[in-house]
Amino acid sequence: MYRTHNCGELSLKDIEKKVILSGWIQKIRNLGSLFFIDIRDYFGITQLIVSKKSVKENFSLEKEFLIKVEGKVVERLSKNYNIPTGEIEILVFHIDLLNSSLFPPFTIENKTDGNEEMRMIYRYLDIRRNPIKNNLIIRHNLVLETRNFLSKNGFLEIETPVLINDTPEGARSFVVPSRTHPNKFYALAQSPQLFKQLLMIGGIDKYFQIVKCFRDEDSRSDRQIEFTQIDCEMSFVEEHDVLVFFEYFIKHIFKKIKNIQLDSFPRISYSDAIKMYGTDSPDIRFSMSFVELNDLVKIKNISLLKEQEFVIGIKIKKCHDIHNNDKINCFLKTIENKNFFWIRYLHNQTLLSSNQNFLNEKILKIFVKYFKALPGDLLFFSYGKKIKTRKELGKIRLKIADFFNLKDPKIFKPLWITDLPLLKWEERSKKYKSVHHPFTSPKEEDIHLLEKCPKNIRSKSYDLIINGVEIGSGSIRIHNKNIQNLIFKHLGFSKREIESRFGFFIKAFEYGVPPHGGIAFGLDRLVNILEGNKNIKNFIAFPKNNYGKDLMINAPSLLEKEKLKELHFR
Ligand code: ASP
Repeated sequence: MYRTHNCGELSLKDIEKKVILSGWIQKIRNLGSLFFIDIRDYFGITQLIVSKKSVKENFSLEKEFLIKVEGKVVERLSKNYNIPTGEIEILVFHIDLLNSSLFPPFTIENKTDGNEEMRMIYRYLDIRRNPIKNNLIIRHNLVLETRNFLSKNGFLEIETPVLINDTPEGARSFVVPSRTHPNKFYALAQSPQLFKQLLMIGGIDKYFQIVKCFRDEDSRSDRQIEFTQIDCEMSFVEEHDVLVFFEYFIKHIFKKIKNIQLDSFPRISYSDAIKMYGTDSPDIRFSMSFVELNDLVKIKNISLLKEQEFVIGIKIKKCHDIHNNDKINCFLKTIENKNFFWIRYLHNQTLLSSNQNFLNEKILKIFVKYFKALPGDLLFFSYGKKIKTRKELGKIRLKIADFFNLKDPKIFKPLWITDLPLLKWEERSKKYKSVHHPFTSPKEEDIHLLEKCPKNIRSKSYDLIINGVEIGSGSIRIHNKNIQNLIFKHLGFSKREIESRFGFFIKAFEYGVPPHGGIAFGLDRLVNILEGNKNIKNFIAFPKNNYGKDLMINAPSLLEKEKLKELHFR
């Protein structure tokens, strides 16, 4: 028998019990005739007292050695109220070594000295640490809640193939050479998009799948080349139905996992989001929306600014209460740039501004009045070309929020971004590309723009943003063959290409496609945001590094000549 109890469950009620425990040595303190040892398993840590006499000679005990002990539960003299077993310890009378261990390459405790690379190479040791283990437990709970919630609401979990053909979903596909079909390739699914639509054509009313997706993209710290989606699709729905249902889903998840009651999610159109925040994934935990100032600077005849294509500003309230003067000055230096200025309204009523010749006292007062600024407030301005100006101030808005600690990880502010553009112009290929994917429905009232002004067509698509991170995105799909063909044509696919790439899909359109729509949430991102948006890799058991490498198994790797030959590579 390896254990009568685990290392996280014994307490004062167990005093005097004879127990057997097994676990890894986390800490060992040598007190001459005694050892104090902390042993750890999945469930927790228990302190052992081992007299040297009970340890055989030549029997060494080191960190991470796996031992089995028999002993008696006794009350501790100096109690540790931070852990559930902290009031007892085990007086050991027999100890067995189950397995020795090399000295661990980093500290296996809540706080570790291991850098990310080492922790990934020895991921199994990292998983022994509470922070990573607990993240995997939270992820499991999230998956379980999701499955239960969606099943209860009539969604059927259905698996779709992973080895498919390349489909245009906005990223590059990973390809897999076929051994049995010389010179032919599968592609790993970027998402189940076409299959979930085919399921709707197949009469499945509501589908979901917790599914691995693969995209051959340049990795970033918040993106993995293989990631997990909560992928969903519903028949006979309009945008509103999808948003209402999935708002209910996200609220349910937050309540169950975090015990947080979320407010209803605002819906902001893509164009308003760009106007108000300079980005399509705004963080609305703090307001600071843009104020357009072109009319003001013209009426007030403010030189330099009145000639600009675009002038905008934001107000940050009461910042002088948060940091001292020197700190604010240093921060302002870090964000200074050419088409940008700031005004500080100090508590002693003085107005300070960035060093720009055109800013005199009169102009400063005009802005202060217009923004209804109060002592302690800060104003930031950006001017120049419209698109660039918005983008720049959007970035500065986030830096300001960081500096003034406005990104509280315990506050969650989801919102829907709606009406994203259907198409965007891609300079490299000189073609229009889908913003979401080619199966997204345009707004009926905008279809006439296809010939004249494709980039102004709005789509029936939506993104879920939480605290500035895109957590999900989806759309109402095209269910009309002619419109689908029209969109393919405008994406630059020839008739032959449409036939060869989407022939099967277009054929299905001949058999009564129901109106349908759906969404996919990034599971890794969702769990990461639930836990304060720290590092997506900490929520994946075996993640890839920022360059798409698995450092533990050393993938990707070279293939032996024989294997290459089998796959018809010469
Ligand atoms: N397949 C889409 C994606 O992966 C999601 C959707 O439209 O439902 O982004």
